Amino acid sequence: MQLYQEQTIRVHNSLTGKKETFVPINEGHIGMYVCGPTVYSNVHLGNCRTFMSFDMIFRYFRHLGYKVRYVRNITDAGHLVDDAEDGEDKIAKKARLEQLEPMEVVQRYTVDFHNILEKFNFLPPSIEPTATGHIIEQIEIIKDILEKGYAYEVNGSVYFDVVRFNESNEYGKLSGRKLEDMIANTRELTAQDDKKSPQDFALWKKAEPEHIMRWPSPWGDGFPGWHLECTAMSTKYLGETFDIHGGGMDLKFPHHECEIAQAEASNGKSPVKYWMHANMLTLNGKKMAKSTGNSILPGEIFSGENDILSKPFSPAMVRFFMMQAHYASILDISNDALLASEKGFNKLMDSMNSIKLLPVGNKTDFDIEAWRQSCYDAMNDDFNTPILIAKLFDAVKHINLIKEGSETITQKDKELLLETMQNFVLDILGLEDKQGSSVDSEKLSGVVELLIQLRKEARENKDFTTSDKIRDQLAELGIQLKDGKEGTTYSL
Ligand SMILES: [Zn+2]
Repeated sequence: MQLYQEQTIRVHNSLTGKKETFVPINEGHIGMYVCGPTVYSNVHLGNCRTFMSFDMIFRYFRHLGYKVRYVRNITDAGHLVDDAEDGEDKIAKKARLEQLEPMEVVQRYTVDFHNILEKFNFLPPSIEPTATGHIIEQIEIIKDILEKGYAYEVNGSVYFDVVRFNESNEYGKLSGRKLEDMIANTRELTAQDDKKSPQDFALWKKAEPEHIMRWPSPWGDGFPGWHLECTAMSTKYLGETFDIHGGGMDLKFPHHECEIAQAEASNGKSPVKYWMHANMLTLNGKKMAKSTGNSILPGEIFSGENDILSKPFSPAMVRFFMMQAHYASILDISNDALLASEKGFNKLMDSMNSIKLLPVGNKTDFDIEAWRQSCYDAMNDDFNTPILIAKLFDAVKHINLIKEGSETITQKDKELLLETMQNFVLDILGLEDKQGSSVDSEKLSGVVELLIQLRKEARENKDFTTSDKIRDQLAELGIQLKDGKEGTTYSL
């Protein structure tokens, strides 16, 4: 008997807009595909949130005893600047600007991506395929779509014929758009355009002579369109129809809409049973964007080297912060929100670590079995981690009452309490602190705050020898003090 046979999960399916009972295509097995990063820059914190949501979902399925094949790709070709249909490949552009081989760019940022995800305690996916490793598969799908009459070739490029596809299928069903409205709201094609309709998208693009990333094809040298790689890799590893396809909300249109069209055009089947979309992360109430300076990298949060936060925060703490919001809600990150969340995180971890030392009695004053099921109920309801965390804090309250002697617990229930807390906190939420314990970082933070206070008092007394000594010796230990209008902060 596996746990999944006792628990019924309900999932919000973006395709139907409804919460549906989750029933995998093959009992006991789950195929899940998530669109991975385009590796031309350091991984964005908002992308980390998306991947973390699917890491939590992957962890929960595994905990329930499902055999999960989780595929998350690496986009190392074909993704054009501004997600546009024309223009430069993101990787090729970066390679040109930095005078690197495109594969050097790919390697550098793939390593960065893996490093950050490891700090956040992600489980590796089952398969992590690359677009450049699947050019042959992509060419085969294009041939298939051409043969079925849903694509056309012009001057060495191949485009998907959206108007023709929409005659027999429904283009726009995932994002809730109508083709007529899309056509009415787009500019007219110019004479230079090869496309028949502005909604058509590239399956294969002819490479101009200066284009450095290129492969031979039946239509001449070129490179695949961005949307195609996900269809090729998901079909290859998960089959023509699989259980879950996930990604960020911003990928719903056009990327995922195009994936559905490509799959239906090539094999006549709807590719995905449940589409799931994770929502975005804002910073201080505004959209994160490098161009406006309203942006922070994960590594800058861990080290404290930034102008936005007052102190460093550990990856496990940031993970806890993200898990306090439902994956489908917008989450805002700010210094105050992180500070408040850190208090809760330390309380939860301390409480879990103190269970082993609790005294035992001959009765238990709270219903552990019912509480345990309420934790599963939270996760079963579309992976509602904020509710789960509230349930975990119910246990913290009882743990404190037992410590004070106002409640008791039996040995058997104490073991079940410990196992359940560890299952949910460590295995499912993934809150294992890989960078030393949270208690250590809390103590360090307390000591640095004390020294900042002593230095402030020394300066007020004009004892600059002492204040400089505190600053310099902390700097020697790798702790930088920063004086600002709001007081002194530090980074590691
Ligand atoms: Zn994709």
